[in-house]
Amino acid sequence: MRSSVPAVSSVSWSSIITGHNPGEHGIFGFVEMMPGTYTLRFPNFLDLRRPAFWSQREGTCVIINVPATYPAQPLNGCHISGFVSPRLSKAVYPVSELPTVEALGYRIDVDAGKASQSELVLYKELNETHTKREELADYLWQKYQPEVFMMVVTGSDRIGHFAWHHWEDKSHPSHHQFLEYFRRVDQTVESFAARLGSSDTLVILSDHGMESTAHEVNLNAHLVEGGFLKLDEDQKRKYSRIQQGSTAFALEDGRVYLNETGRFPNGSVEKSQEEELLDQLAAFFAGMQVGGNKVIRSVCRREEIYQGDHLSQAPHLVLVPNPGFKLMGRLTTDLHQPSRLSGMHNDQAFLLVRAPGADEIVPDTPTVEDVVSIIAD
Ligand SMILES: [Zn+2]
Repeated sequence: MRSSVPAVSSVSWSSIITGHNPGEHGIFGFVEMMPGTYTLRFPNFLDLRRPAFWSQREGTCVIINVPATYPAQPLNGCHISGFVSPRLSKAVYPVSELPTVEALGYRIDVDAGKASQSELVLYKELNETHTKREELADYLWQKYQPEVFMMVVTGSDRIGHFAWHHWEDKSHPSHHQFLEYFRRVDQTVESFAARLGSSDTLVILSDHGMESTAHEVNLNAHLVEGGFLKLDEDQKRKYSRIQQGSTAFALEDGRVYLNETGRFPNGSVEKSQEEELLDQLAAFFAGMQVGGNKVIRSVCRREEIYQGDHLSQAPHLVLVPNPGFKLMGRLTTDLHQPSRLSGMHNDQAFLLVRAPGADEIVPDTPTVEDVVSIIAD
């Protein structure tokens, strides 16, 4: 299955649960600029501009750990938000389930700070978090007997970011632990799949794929060098360092914005200049190299990849990197640095459907936007 562009969890899951593209559901990344400012904020579930599929179903739904669904919202059943969920108390609907969720010792996510300390702690965190999630899922399944049950395992993403080399290097001392974690995930899937009847639909999917990464590329440093971006010296001011005369800046995961007049405080780009500027930027990024290798696989104009009533809030360009490069949005003068993580996302998600007539309901080349219609059937 093809992931979203960019292949970022908040964007991809928003498409999976609404059946719409980012131009319609309005989620373009983990962070956004607040309107009329250069201040970043985290969009959350309340910013989603299309309804999640479960909000329109009459049958009981149990929805556990879907990313970008915080705070939990009313539905017929139970909803436990996924990351980013700052407070457990707002991640549980109905709130009457909160004492049970707390008593089980449920964790929304592994502690990334701890998990990056050592391999021992990483696998301990992954396994403990998975055990708690499975216990909660089992409790909610028994209690609600849901018509729709959805559980997201996020440990499979964390293990990929921190320990992809454990998988690729078969001689690595932790290789077997990496495989063992996925066996546990398989057992969980098996235990729930075994409860289904012959007319039920089983869908197993990922929101993106994973591959190894070597370099973090700082797009804003490249934009400064290319003369597109001018920053003042005050490091504390973050994105408000963007000065008049800047024509473009980047946010993480390859999102490039024109510094439009009327949209941003020091906006410097008029409508009439946009086309020429986008051509220049596309050529600039297409030629960008690190260590003699081209960084960018494709430069996407927003009209090519998105449509809908929120298109004007989309980044003007989305850059898709070649393998090994992660596209960063931070403001620094370093053009690139070695990656701190072992693995990063790519756009190769997967989709498995077990259902009567599955061949007819699953498109030949599905995207994350097709999942809702598969569930509806
Ligand atoms: Zn991830």
